[in-house]
Amino acid sequence: MPTMGSAMTERVAFFDTPLLYLKGLGPQRTELLNKELNLFSYGDLIQYYPFRYDDRSRFYTISELMDSMPSAQIRGRIREWYQEGEGPKKRLVATFQDGTGSMTLVWFQAIAYLEKTLRRDGEYIVYGKPQSFNGQFSIIHPELENTATAAEHEAGFFPVYNLTEKLRKRHLDSKAIGKAMRILLEQSWPHIRETLPDSLIQQFRLISKRDAMWNIHLPQNQAWLKQAQRRLKFEELFYNQLRLIKNKLIQKEEFPGQIFRDTSLMKHFYKELLPFELTLAQQRVIKEIYADFLTGKQMNRLLQGDVGSGKTIVAFISCLLAIGNGAQACIMAPTEILADQHYNGLKPFAESMGLNIGILTGSTNKKRRVVLHDELQSGKMHILVGTHALLEDAVQYKNLGLCIIDEQHRFGVAQRAKLWRKNEVVPPHILVMTATPIPRTLAMTLYGNLDVSVIDELPKGRKPIKTVHKFDKHRSEVFGFIRQQIELGRQVYVVYPLIEESEKLDYKDLMDGFESMQRAFPRPKYEIGILHGKMLPYEKDDEMKRFLKNETQILVATTVIEVGVNVPNASVMVIESAERFGLSQLHQLRGRVGRGAEQSYCILMTGYKLSSDTRTRLETMVRTNNGFEIADVDLQLRGPGDLTGTQQSGVMDLMIADLAKDGPILTAARDSAQAILAEDPELLLPQHAPIRNHLDGIKQTESNWGRIS
Ligand code: ADP
Ligand code: MG
Repeated sequence: MPTMGSAMTERVAFFDTPLLYLKGLGPQRTELLNKELNLFSYGDLIQYYPFRYDDRSRFYTISELMDSMPSAQIRGRIREWYQEGEGPKKRLVATFQDGTGSMTLVWFQAIAYLEKTLRRDGEYIVYGKPQSFNGQFSIIHPELENTATAAEHEAGFFPVYNLTEKLRKRHLDSKAIGKAMRILLEQSWPHIRETLPDSLIQQFRLISKRDAMWNIHLPQNQAWLKQAQRRLKFEELFYNQLRLIKNKLIQKEEFPGQIFRDTSLMKHFYKELLPFELTLAQQRVIKEIYADFLTGKQMNRLLQGDVGSGKTIVAFISCLLAIGNGAQACIMAPTEILADQHYNGLKPFAESMGLNIGILTGSTNKKRRVVLHDELQSGKMHILVGTHALLEDAVQYKNLGLCIIDEQHRFGVAQRAKLWRKNEVVPPHILVMTATPIPRTLAMTLYGNLDVSVIDELPKGRKPIKTVHKFDKHRSEVFGFIRQQIELGRQVYVVYPLIEESEKLDYKDLMDGFESMQRAFPRPKYEIGILHGKMLPYEKDDEMKRFLKNETQILVATTVIEVGVNVPNASVMVIESAERFGLSQLHQLRGRVGRGAEQSYCILMTGYKLSSDTRTRLETMVRTNNGFEIADVDLQLRGPGDLTGTQQSGVMDLMIADLAKDGPILTAARDSAQAILAEDPELLLPQHAPIRNHLDGIKQTESNWGRIS
């Protein structure tokens, strides 16, 4: 169909136009957008959606303010102002009143300028996030508009884009991007094609793609914004599901699986060698896995269990079922440290059974690799533990029957697909283990018809970790406690936040913290290690090993230690600036202690001023050790797009949908995708032309697919 073909090239060509051609942008700002945001073409920019909207369509009174408001606009008068604090804490505090109450406005920057320009008793419109401290509301760094001098107050909804400091310095703020977007949208209008078939638009009462694109950037009002979001989320999830289903990544029913019936090897281990009793939950999960092994279909199971619940032994016993039936097994971990740990932990078990276990990571040398490859192909090697290196094409098995993936959220769909192909005719059974409870909707999207097992019980005799919240000014008391614990032979983690936005500042915090720890815990009595993301892999490994061997008593680190590390002798976890961590992250970090027989402690350090959400997070941590309870609270508190890092890590490449919140849209999108592919697997029917065209158009970006965090 030549006409359709040319329509498509024209469309693609338009959105491929380099940003340089966009009126009013200019070469310098274009280059900044290239460098800072990776935006190169019209298509890139138009798909750079706002991450929130300023609702300037209505005014609130001070008496109406609530902590839960993301932002509010208030009209009132500035009565007086004064300076408070010293050094970096120096700030300007102004009293702001509107007849219903009084609040404060706080600035840490531009103090001199503000003092010169603020008008006492002048009327202002302020805008920002209200937060209450001891019943008094305040806004830190509010936007300020002087009603006497402002030309005209613009009411409405304004897009707020995720921008960097550099962009803002060059006056590419949300307002400027919004302006450029208006020009782009006007020009794009005739080129925006509908991407969904009419039937779906009717069925789900979606607005058109054009209207959606316009209103996602420049919403006419709240109602249009909602519709635009719904439409684009549906589209995104529809294509996401369509692709997964089409690539057969989420249709396990179609795959046969090996049957592992013989339990004698497993029973031998269980009765003769297992050094402890399995918990009832562990026993139940093993039964579930065994039942899967009998079906003749490929197992595709997610095992959720809180940190320390004993997932590794369940993994090992599953391996024994595979091996006892003539197959091989592999265990894949996200880092070398974790792979080493699994290997060293399982080796004694394997050897006592007369089984061969090997390890393959990025640092395995060539000679060793050659031997390993041989042993895998001949079937001599029974269990292979490793990192992503396991995915390399050179790694071939005689008969791979089971793949276990630990700490799933570091792996993408593409990696999983690669594992499946490691066994030619019958794909291996897959067991994904995670300590982060994943909401059902996310599990469904990542793994389709994934079955879920849960270990909801900790081994007997574990002493629950004691968690306390301390303010920064009690630091010397905390240091005293750390000294005591080290006297007792224990080890201590001290963790600092590292959040990308302000990476430089965080890095400085970490280094400052490290130095102050060195002053408080001097050599030679104490040895302190440091671990952060900027170190090379071998440097990290060395530091970790020193800590494991108790050569360092204190490990100062960023969240690189978050996942899975097991140092049983470490009994204290100090989390600095705990207010800056998410709840599930705090729980993960805490899970690094409490792994030995000793009483363990988690100390959450914060400053005084805490928002109500932060207080809820800290209270939850202090109250409970239960990961599922914590996940629940987390889901309730969490803002959009903050799901266990999965969304940001590129596993799903979602730009607008939020798996934590958009469950119903996901279900609808998935059912639709399934129905359409069932009726028309090759998408050849004329009514499905929009889908076909869209898929052709986005093929180029396909390589994004397997991105790993
Ligand atoms: P996680 O689920 O966090 O991966 P691990 O598998 O690392 O937990 O187990 C944590 C520790 O608990 C290990 O030292 C393991 O040997 C031990 N463990 C596992 N199951 C039991 C059990 N049923 N009884 C006693 N200790 C157990
Ligand atoms: Mg583990």
